[in-house]
Amino acid sequence: MPAIEALGHGIHAIDTGFVRPYFDASHLVVERGRAAFVDVGTNFSVPGLLAALPAVGLASDAVDYVIVTHVHLDHAGGAGEMMRLLPQAKLVVHPRGARHMIDPRRLWAGASAVYGEEVMLRNYGTLVPVDPTRVIEAPDGFTLELGGRPLLFLDTPGHARHHFCIWDEASRSMFTGDTFGLAYRELASERGRFVMPTTTPVQFEPEALVASIDRLVGYQPQAMLLTHYSRVTEVERLADELRHQISELATLGRAVDGTPDRAARLRQGVRELVNGWVRDHGTPLPQLAIDAVLDVDIELNAQGLESWLDRDKR
Ligand SMILES: [Zn+2]
Repeated sequence: MPAIEALGHGIHAIDTGFVRPYFDASHLVVERGRAAFVDVGTNFSVPGLLAALPAVGLASDAVDYVIVTHVHLDHAGGAGEMMRLLPQAKLVVHPRGARHMIDPRRLWAGASAVYGEEVMLRNYGTLVPVDPTRVIEAPDGFTLELGGRPLLFLDTPGHARHHFCIWDEASRSMFTGDTFGLAYRELASERGRFVMPTTTPVQFEPEALVASIDRLVGYQPQAMLLTHYSRVTEVERLADELRHQISELATLGRAVDGTPDRAARLRQGVRELVNGWVRDHGTPLPQLAIDAVLDVDIELNAQGLESWLDRDKR
């Protein structure tokens, strides 16, 4: 049974078990006995997520919607398998992501180019296609009713162009996927939670990401619900940190662009920036433990900055 946390207003955070404990969350929203998952981890997360339903008093046919904030595989890799096992549910996805859920071959090939085929199979398993008649595309401003509770979809490019966030007026909270960055619990300090942006390949756009963050903050949320990992408050402070960090990453990218050892300089530069942010935050962990939490994200952020710089030239 995965770790399940009740966050109030019928919202639960469920650990998908991907990578390590409290790395990757799925959120379950329940209203009048009807339920929706927001992000579902990978194929290997699905049994745990389905086991969480009876644990919170629901039958599996209570799930009306499987919502994916974007189609990156730590959020949507399990969506097809989930839909196979929940035959009454509809999949809700950004219009730019829908075709990748219906035919996941391109998604698979794209992710394989980043991670390699062997790692892909081990981490994600084989992606299951979703019947197009069960897919709801949610453009900007789209409202979904879950048991009568409105969920508002906001187009939020910057991390990915197929990313939306979901405003839940009932709890005054925002499901942010990866748009509001990563806030691993291990890195919290006396100052509160540590946050940093994720610039993973291949659609990072710094200006768009800051605009999306500004738009989210404009709703004056009481909390942001991040996929990595779950509920944060102090929305204004965290948004300020993200804006500053995104600007530093973009400045680094532009400074080393055109140099022959750009890739190595980016890796080194991202590592120095991230370590500086963690140090300034006062995270009381030894460097080795901090590295264990952030090594993969530092590598992916460096790769994502490279694809941004290359795309900018085309
Ligand atoms: Zn992502």
